[in-house]
Amino acid sequence: MELPNQQVAASFDEIADLLELAGDNQFKIRAYRRAAEIVRSLDEPAAELLRRDQSAIPGIGEALRSKIWEMESEGRIEYLERLRAQIPAAIVVLTRVPGIGPRTARRLHESLGIEDVASLLAAARAGRIREMPGFGAKTEANIIKAIQSMQSDGGRKPLYQALPLAQQIVSELLKVSGVEHADAGGSIRRRRDTIGDIDIIAATTDAGRLMERFASLDVFQEITSMGPLRASAVTRSQIRCDLWAVPPESYWTGLHHVTGSKDHHVRLRGIAGRMGLLINERGVYRDSDGQAIGIESEEDIYSLLGMSYIPPELREDRGEIEAALSGALPAIIGRHSIRGDLHMHTSWSDGGESIDDMARAAQAIGYDYIAITDHSRSLGVAHGLSVERVLQQIDEVRGANARARGIRILAGAEVDILKDGSLDFPDEILERLDVVVASIHSGFRQDRATITGRIVAAMQNPHVDILAHPTGRLLARRPGYDVDIGTVIREAARTGTALEINSYPDRLDLDDEHARAARDAGVMIAVNTDSHASGELANMEYGVWVARRAWLEPRHVANTMSCDELIEWLHTHKAARG
Ligand SMILES: [Zn+2]
Ligand SMILES: [Zn+2]
Repeated sequence: MELPNQQVAASFDEIADLLELAGDNQFKIRAYRRAAEIVRSLDEPAAELLRRDQSAIPGIGEALRSKIWEMESEGRIEYLERLRAQIPAAIVVLTRVPGIGPRTARRLHESLGIEDVASLLAAARAGRIREMPGFGAKTEANIIKAIQSMQSDGGRKPLYQALPLAQQIVSELLKVSGVEHADAGGSIRRRRDTIGDIDIIAATTDAGRLMERFASLDVFQEITSMGPLRASAVTRSQIRCDLWAVPPESYWTGLHHVTGSKDHHVRLRGIAGRMGLLINERGVYRDSDGQAIGIESEEDIYSLLGMSYIPPELREDRGEIEAALSGALPAIIGRHSIRGDLHMHTSWSDGGESIDDMARAAQAIGYDYIAITDHSRSLGVAHGLSVERVLQQIDEVRGANARARGIRILAGAEVDILKDGSLDFPDEILERLDVVVASIHSGFRQDRATITGRIVAAMQNPHVDILAHPTGRLLARRPGYDVDIGTVIREAARTGTALEINSYPDRLDLDDEHARAARDAGVMIAVNTDSHASGELANMEYGVWVARRAWLEPRHVANTMSCDELIEWLHTHKAARG
């Protein structure tokens, strides 16, 4: 049986997580993380590639190869099993609370018997934590605060943590005999940037067999409930997963139902009611005689209601129903519209590969152009380039471009917006670059007026083409800096500066609502990956999903232009770009 890449990647990620908790060495941890990323980006099963050629996958050496073979033949990795046994599940769970490291988690677990976040909160509220040596009332208050803020976002997880798991579960369920269709619905299918839980629906003629297989999947830590047609489980990464089994004739209304959103459905049901129809998860029925109407796709549901098909990413009741009724839905962008990537790093700063490597990988994806945008001098942690180094790099990029066939390589930089709003390279340098991406990497705690003023000042520089990761947020780790995004959008429109949707899966800013506001204000958007290795170029799909949710069409996105059009756009005086 074929071993799915998602399963290999999830196991490598879990090994990295557990090694991190065990305090193992960073080099080893990074090797597993990198391997997970590489395997996830392959188009062919890793095991097959390696069988043909042992060194087919750079970054996968002997030790990792043998784990892939083991997983294929045994269905498990001994090493991972051992790590799981060494590190109690409670410790894994407790370290998800911000501020609690592995050592603290172990002490809380061992001395107070704390098993999960709920019992930790109860212990903190009861004043039991301050009684432990080395812990005070302040620590206790911080723990309460951290748990409350975790719970206020409903414990949502970034899409990239849940989507590969959901895909892995679905692909396993599709192999079960009797299963005709299966898919993940909910915010995963709508491609929201964070998700609450994984909802899976499967059409089957043999629900018993489906439930049995679901319960046996290795991704789950615990099966929390099991009925004839429904089951719930919790994954090892603490994401809840619900499964619905439906008969094949109810699949499309069922999928439509679990996809949501609730607001979208309420509106649709209202429209259906006025037409004398009843829609629920089992089917569509005529009010008059209760007769079921045959539904063979989601398209059928929308056309029955007299509207054009609404893609899942738009189902939020943000005007899509009115647009679909009047035939005015936007032709939203797809992954294939993207012709280049305008933000990436190489080993010149904090990336892992050469300019040529990145260009080759981009060409293999089918791009017409890329921009190399390494960090500027002030970003010491990322080996930012000095003025001399960036001049050298421009020559190097010109050379690589001359060697390359079929892809254009543009010279760029990700120039830091310094604390006073000035840029990290002088104008004489910026004007030699084809593309200037500007961004903030410091002074995150400045107040709203100061941060917004910094960004506005940067956008007023005529050489700045794109404002990168405009809010600085990291999903589930840190909120963005306090920026007035309305002002940024207005100023971007006025100066002709593009705003970025950063496809790095834990950034994804601008978010969908801000990107849509930018679109409406006439701002050009660039969807970039900010890759630090060629395997990360595949993250583009995450940015495209945000763009789809923001109602963007190809004409709203700079990197859907041909290279010549793009260069012309870059040369046009910024204020006149429009
Ligand atoms: Zn950056
Ligand atoms: Zn970057």
